[in-house]
Amino acid sequence: PTAPALPAVSLSPPGTFSPEAARGDVPILHRTVNGQPLVWLDNAATTQKPRQVIEALTAYYSAANSNIHRGAHTMAREATEMYEAGRAAVASFLGAEGPETIAFVRGTTEAINLVAQSWGRANLGPGDDILVPVLEHHSDIVPWQLIAKETRARVVPVPLDAAGQIDQAAYADLLSYRTRLVAISHASNVLGTVPPVKEMTALAHRYDARVLVDGAQAVAHLPVDVQDLGADFYAFSGHKLFAPTGIGALYARPEVMAALKPWQGGGNMIESVSFDRTTFAPPPHLLEAGTGHISGVVGLLAALNWLTSFDRAAVTAYEDALMAYAEQAMATVPGLSLLGAAPDRIAVLTFTLAGHDPATVADWLDRDGIAVRAGHHCAQPALAHYGLESAARASLSLYNTSEEVDRLVSSLRGLQQAS
Ligand code: PLP
Repeated sequence: PTAPALPAVSLSPPGTFSPEAARGDVPILHRTVNGQPLVWLDNAATTQKPRQVIEALTAYYSAANSNIHRGAHTMAREATEMYEAGRAAVASFLGAEGPETIAFVRGTTEAINLVAQSWGRANLGPGDDILVPVLEHHSDIVPWQLIAKETRARVVPVPLDAAGQIDQAAYADLLSYRTRLVAISHASNVLGTVPPVKEMTALAHRYDARVLVDGAQAVAHLPVDVQDLGADFYAFSGHKLFAPTGIGALYARPEVMAALKPWQGGGNMIESVSFDRTTFAPPPHLLEAGTGHISGVVGLLAALNWLTSFDRAAVTAYEDALMAYAEQAMATVPGLSLLGAAPDRIAVLTFTLAGHDPATVADWLDRDGIAVRAGHHCAQPALAHYGLESAARASLSLYNTSEEVDRLVSSLRGLQQAS
């Protein structure tokens, strides 16, 4: 069967954003895979890097490499300035109160473990509840299970409604004065859904609970304003935001940051050390034991500069139009079911194809040069909600095009025809 014609969708909304300009900056998008031009639709797993980031890393290691905060020499000072400029850039990107609210970490997973170990160990006890929606990534479930076991607190799952959104009535019912923390994703890596984080945070604060927002999937797609959200903590990974792997950030509200306890010990996080009495540097340095990922911060700074050089409203409009186009196009594939029905999703399309397991689908697409992920997406409870153990996921970014969506759809049709 041939694909029915789709209604025309404008992929060039007003504004200054051009996906072609973004593509031109990202060298890897011009390689081939299995003899076909690459179609990178695994952006929710990691994003590809613009040359501005790659060049910043080369320049750093070619001309600027030094440890920071330590030696009193020119290059140590320069490296320190870059590192702290990165911190200030992250603060401004997140709409935070200032650089002192930002701690550098390896990524979202480490940020959440930091909160669990630092804040959790000091603030959780027997009978306390940690509310975690069923939709969460394993890295926003398992750290809470570990600290709950240690402190004899409880991890309480918040169910999903039929459309795959967090059940707000159930959430309101589960909140109580026992709730110490709510941990929610700003956008789901399985459904792309964006829960009403601001409202959920305001409700949690009525019970004096803290709210951690996992921004891993949101940061590349949505403008973030942590103060407007009211978040106590906000975590993200640089690699999902066009930056290198191994660098990410944790935001904590100033009063919350000021009260955080050490979670790892070592150099850089102390004021003075003796066998009688060790004193600590103030947060956020308190949380950054050992040599940080300095080049990672340089790369993150370059990535933030690259992303914010575009008109972000135009980027969002483009991604929304591309997502709508992809939803319609994929719906024309016989036997394809998309997970989640909620509107206003970020660019994640998780699906099953009747008669084919997700690994076979990903393998078939890979032969056509199209990269999608198959598996449980580190969200087994969310997939279990749909009675699934595994699904395929195509995730879009600002540099993807409608032609690439067409290639995805045509390859999926090819698989259906071949079987
Ligand atoms: N949270 C969400 C919603 C994610 O999608 C991911 C990664 O897929 C993570 C957390 C973990 O991110 P990282 O592996 O970079 O720490």
